[in-house]
Amino acid sequence: MEPGRRYAGAMRCPTCGVDDTRVIDSRSADQGTSIRRRRACAGCGNRFTTYERGAPVLQVRKRNGSIEPFSSQKLLKGVEAALADRPVPAAAISDLLDEIEAAATLYGGPMPSEQIGRLVLDGLRVLDEVAYLRFASVYKDFQDAEDFGREVAALEESGLTRD
Ligand SMILES: [Zn+2]
Repeated sequence: MEPGRRYAGAMRCPTCGVDDTRVIDSRSADQGTSIRRRRACAGCGNRFTTYERGAPVLQVRKRNGSIEPFSSQKLLKGVEAALADRPVPAAAISDLLDEIEAAATLYGGPMPSEQIGRLVLDGLRVLDEVAYLRFASVYKDFQDAEDFGREVAALEESGLTRD
């Protein structure tokens, strides 16, 4: 790397806050499950250590009890289908997906699919009411007509629908 050039993966110095730090040593640690890096700050000369580990594999518990890997691609497809032709910026969609993935990470085990669906619905409700209704109508756990009717009634009560 050229001197003074920043790159997206720059790590800020925990002592002085300058983001001009470089890796001076990398080695595997914890029986190869992580990488330990020694870094040096060009600003204050501080040396510090970072560890790199694989992110835990997120899982989803389906309503029938089976466990599946969490698929952000699958989630994106569903959300994009609901948002088709709606004036919602791509950045808002990726923010929503990031939030849901973060919630699934914090959940600390296989997150129930209906809970994920609920998060999508909450997000879409804020972004776009048409997409919200579309998603509610196609989302597997809302195929029950009564559930869908309840969602629509709740929307009407909240004064969000107009016609
Ligand atoms: Zn520093």
